[in-house]
Amino acid sequence: MLEVRPEIAAMPGYHSPQVDVPVRLNTNESPFPPPPEFLNEFAEAINSIPWNRYPERTAPRLRNALSRHHDVPAESLFIANGSNEVLQTVLLTFAGPGRKVVVFEPGYQMHVQISRIVGSDVVVIERNDDFTLDVDDVRSKLTEADPHLVFLSSPNNPTGQCDDEALLDAVLESTSGLLVVDEAYAEFGTWSAIDRALSSDRIVVSRTFSKTWSLAALRLGYLIGSPAVVDHLWAAVLPYHLDAAKQMAGEISLRYIDDMNERVSRIISERERVQNALVDMGIRVSPSSANFILFSTDIDANTIWQRLLEEGVLVRNCSSWPRLEGWLRLTIGSEDENNAFLQGLESAVKQG
Ligand code: PMP
Repeated sequence: MLEVRPEIAAMPGYHSPQVDVPVRLNTNESPFPPPPEFLNEFAEAINSIPWNRYPERTAPRLRNALSRHHDVPAESLFIANGSNEVLQTVLLTFAGPGRKVVVFEPGYQMHVQISRIVGSDVVVIERNDDFTLDVDDVRSKLTEADPHLVFLSSPNNPTGQCDDEALLDAVLESTSGLLVVDEAYAEFGTWSAIDRALSSDRIVVSRTFSKTWSLAALRLGYLIGSPAVVDHLWAAVLPYHLDAAKQMAGEISLRYIDDMNERVSRIISERERVQNALVDMGIRVSPSSANFILFSTDIDANTIWQRLLEEGVLVRNCSSWPRLEGWLRLTIGSEDENNAFLQGLESAVKQG
C-alpha cells in the first residue's frame, strides 16, 4: 500500500471552478489579450530557437531585460514558471521541513498550501475584522512565533488592500527570518518593496507576468532580492526549469510596456467605477488596490454566486475560506463585462 505524506493527503488542492459562461471574472487575470504586435514578434522569434539544445539555465537575456525594466542589477533577479514556482523555490531554500512560516489571514491560500507541501509548519496571524493588520499586535505575535519566513501580500489577495508599509520594519525587527513580499498585484497598488529588497538580504519581492502583462498562460514570474539570496535560489531550482520559448516571450513582452501601462490605468479606472457602483447599491466592499474587489451582501454568498452564474457571470465564491464567510471576489473585467456583473448583481440582490 502506497503511503502518501499526511500533509499532502490532508490537502483540498487548489480549485477555482471553471464554468463555461460568457463573463468569467473569477481568477484575477487581465481581461485583455496581449497586443497582436507582441504575438507576431514572438511567433517569428521562436523560429530562431535552437530546439535540440537545453535552454540557458539562468535566462540571461530575460534577466537583462528585467534588469533594465526595474532598474535593478541582473544579479538581483531570479526567474521561474509563474510566481507560485518562485514562492515554492524560496520556501524550499529558506523554510522546508520543520521550519516555521507565518501567513496573515485572510490571505493567498497558496502561501499556506506550498508551505505545507515543502513540509513547513504554518503559523497564522489573524487580520482585524476590516482586514487590516495592527503593527504592535504583529510585532508581539511574530516575536512569539520566531519564524524562518514570513509572507506578506501587498496588495493582498483576496482582500485587495495594501498593508501599511511600516509592517516591513515590524517584521524585520521582530524576527530573524526572510520576509517575502508577494507583489503579484503591485502594478495596481500604492507602494512596492523593491528598493527595500535591494538594500536588505532579509526582504525579497515576487512579481508575475500573469496579471498586468496579460500572460497568465505563459507561466512566468520573478523575484527581486539581494544577489546573495538570489544565488541560493538558482542553486535550489531544477536545472533548465525555464524553457527557451518562455524566456523569449518574457523578453519580447517587456518591449510593450506602454501598452501594459495603459491597460493598468484602464483597469484601475474600471475598478473605481465598479467600487463606487457597489457602494451606491449598499454593498460592503473591502477597499481595493488590486485588479479585483472583495464584496459581500446581506444575502447568502452561495445564493448570490449561483444567481450571478445564471446571469452568465462567474465570480469567485470565497465564503468557505478562512474568515471570509459571506464574501465573494470579482476580478475587474472589460467595461462590458463589469456592466454585466453590475446588472446581474443588482437583479440577484433584488430577488431577496
Ligand atoms: N501571488 C498571489 C497573491 C496571487 O494572487 C497569485 C495568482 N493567483 C500568484 C501569486 C500566482 O501567480 P502566478 O503563479 O500566475 O505568477
